[in-house]
Formats: sequence, structure tokens, C-alpha cells
Amino acid sequence: MSVITNNGKSPLAFSSLNLHKDLLKNLTSLGYQEMTPIQAQSLPKMLVGKDVIAQAKTGSGKTAAFGLALLEKLQVKRFRIQSMVLCPTRELADQVATEIRKLARAVHNIKVLTLCGGTPFGPQIGSLEHGAHIIVGTPGRIEEHVIKGTLKLDDLNLLVLDEADRMLEMGFEAALDNIIERTPLDRQTLLFSATFPKQIQAISESIMTDPVMVQISASE
Ligand code: ADP
Ligand code: MG
Repeated sequence: MSVITNNGKSPLAFSSLNLHKDLLKNLTSLGYQEMTPIQAQSLPKMLVGKDVIAQAKTGSGKTAAFGLALLEKLQVKRFRIQSMVLCPTRELADQVATEIRKLARAVHNIKVLTLCGGTPFGPQIGSLEHGAHIIVGTPGRIEEHVIKGTLKLDDLNLLVLDEADRMLEMGFEAALDNIIERTPLDRQTLLFSATFPKQIQAISESIMTDPVMVQISASE
């Protein structure tokens, strides 16, 4: 049985989404032909501005899911911090920043800045003064910057919590609260996780507005 959609395209084709044509072309050049299940389920909702909780196992393409939503929403000509991705570790933050830069290759002059612990604080202040569109980092260091006032999030319109389950396991809940209370209330919030323990449910209720939950079972 074949699945017929309105435009006659496969429901898994990136071209079934209303993505910028340069982004679409770049996906082809990266060898991303079809969306993974979590991308197919979550992207349409994220692209219309919904808050989304997305749960799928490791390796299912969650980074590109929120990365594409983030790039599609970004106004490149506005050189302000418009989106931020929080990750549990420096390694993961580096991987996310690399993937976002790869996806953004087709769009010129997008500045992604990583802010993680284990690197000197001073030079990060200098980088922040130069400005960025997107911040990727770990909660501890980002909390330090927002408390000191070296990172201002007044223009943030998209916040991503990646590997939210691990961030909570690592004891970052208070840091997350301190960061989130300094972001605009009308932001879009996306939460990605491999598992969905009760604590995630509680945090998502407190920081998200009418979220859509997307779950891909382990066998898919
Ligand atoms: P997760 O965060 O769910 O653990 P990742 O985002 O790290 O997974 O993605 C795993 C791998 O899949 C990465 O190497 C990424 O480049 C690749 N990938 C993501 N989406 C696609 C796609 N639509 N087609 C092909 N490869 C993809
Ligand atoms: Mg991931």
C-alpha cells in the first residue's frame, strides 16, 4: 500500500516541508535523503512554532531535527542571540555545534558560539562581545554567564534542551532554572531526550506552553 500525501511526495522527504531552498539543497549534498522517523514527526510541529517534547533513542537524528527548526526560524540579518541549545557535556555541545554549522553551510554568515566549562571564562566574554546568532553550551557555564550579565538572552526566541534526561541526571536542574528564568516568556521551547522519566515530565510542564509530545519507540 502506498501512502499518498497532498503534494504527492513521500511523507519522509525533506522536500515535503516548507524549508528554505538553500537548506534543502544542502541536505541533499550532505546525503540526507529522507527524514528519520523522529524528524518526520517533530519537524512539522516545530516549524509552525509549537513547543515540542521529542523522545527517541540515540542515533535517531535528533540534532538535525532541532537544528533545521532552529535554522529555519533564524533571521540571519539580525545579529542577535536568537537561539540556544543546552547540552549535558562539552563533547556533546561540540558535536551539536558542528552539526548545526554543517546544516547551515548553505546560509552565509551564521555565527554559532559554544560556551562550555573547562575552557577559560575571559575569552568567552570577548566572543560574546563580538556577538552570535546561536549559542550551544553546557548549563553550568551558561548559568555563570547569565548571572554575571555577560550573556543576555532578551532576544532569544528558541530554546532547546538536548539530552534533557542526562542534564537532570547530572544535577543541572537548578542551573537550567536560573537560565530559563532569564529568557523571554514567549520563546519556543524544544526538549529532546532518549528517555522520559517523571522528572522530565515535571520540568516540561513548568517551562513549556501546550507542548506536543512525539515519541518514537525503540524498534523504529
Ligand atoms: P541523536 O541525537 O538522536 O542521538 P544524531 O543527531 O547524533 O542522533 O544523529 C545520528 C547520525 O545520523 C548523525 O551522524 C547524523 O549526521 C545522521 N543523520 C541525521 N539525520 C539524518 C538523515 N535524515 N539522513 C541521514 N543521516 C542523518
Ligand atoms: Mg543527540
